[in-house]
Amino acid sequence: MAFELEALIRPNILRLKPYSSARAEFSGKAEVFLDANENPFPKPLALNRYPDPLQKQLKKEIAGIKKVRPEQIFLGNGSDEAIDLLFRIFCEPRVDNVLTMPPTYGMYQVSADIADVEVRKVSLIPELFQPDVDAVLERADARSKLLFVCSPNNPTGNTMEVEKVASLLRAFSGMVVVDEAYIDFSDQPSWLDRLEGFPNLVVLQTFSKAWGLAGMRLGMAFAAPSVIDWFNRVKAPYNLNALTQSKALEYIQDVEGSREQGSTILAERGRLWKQLEALPFIEKLYPSSANFILVKLPEAEKIYRYLMEAGVIVRNRSQVELCENTLRITIGSRSENERLMALLSAWGVKPAAEKV
Ligand SMILES: *Cc1c(COP(=O)(O)O)cnc(C)c1O
Repeated sequence: MAFELEALIRPNILRLKPYSSARAEFSGKAEVFLDANENPFPKPLALNRYPDPLQKQLKKEIAGIKKVRPEQIFLGNGSDEAIDLLFRIFCEPRVDNVLTMPPTYGMYQVSADIADVEVRKVSLIPELFQPDVDAVLERADARSKLLFVCSPNNPTGNTMEVEKVASLLRAFSGMVVVDEAYIDFSDQPSWLDRLEGFPNLVVLQTFSKAWGLAGMRLGMAFAAPSVIDWFNRVKAPYNLNALTQSKALEYIQDVEGSREQGSTILAERGRLWKQLEALPFIEKLYPSSANFILVKLPEAEKIYRYLMEAGVIVRNRSQVELCENTLRITIGSRSENERLMALLSAWGVKPAAEKV
């Protein structure tokens, strides 16, 4: 069965005549710009001018680092913008549906709810947190447009088995979105390597985690150029501001620096793992390919509040299905992790009557 992208796109989007910005229509060299009603008086960083709508320079740099072509890249205001656009491009409200595999990242559901699109949930296999491929394919139908695969998965921390994801890519008739927000903490290869082989693959990555730039709000989607074309048609014309573009160009020069921070975080993850393992009241630690560890422990709720009162905030995932009595702990700096461990050790020797 040949893959036909246009068959998946919403009819109104197929018909859309995109907004054509002044900057997008012009690509040569000019000296006088009287086309965009800008203020002619220079501001630092040329902020009196509209930014490049397609972020060509930044995409060129990212393409070099990621070993893809610039036409395979969409850049947005966080990966969240890419997720939102996927719904707007592919999902007809109240008609189409998407599939998620909980426990997973909460934004897929939120974006679906905002777009008024049905979410079909097929739980990961308990404890292993791997996709139940047959169950996913069974729930999918002709109106299933997106399947979200988060790998490494948030909040469980594991990567999804390559063969399972490949089976989903081959058999699912919609787009398979592999969210790799944590890929730089993993020793598994990125699905970017397989982009050419799967026309229905969209890979999401972000500058928010390993790059240490969550405040910048810069996310990436990678896909076939034909898919990226639709992103470009539907996105706001100037979706990335000039400050983000220029700062990103600056930070991206320091690939080594962010790799080093990544290794430090991985070393801290190893240390924290050993220390958590030694606490007698910890029930289970889930192996992590990300910058956090999911921890199963009795009285997670109480420990969560105890830590909070002491000024240390972790993520309580106890209400999430298949994650009863768990906390998700982000790997911090050495001193932050030590503060956490001191509190957890003190909890271990607290008399039961004081554990409220
Ligand atoms: C943190 C995270 C993101 C990043 O979102 P941004 O909008 O790029 O900050 C994406 N997906 C998952 C699973 C995450 O945990």
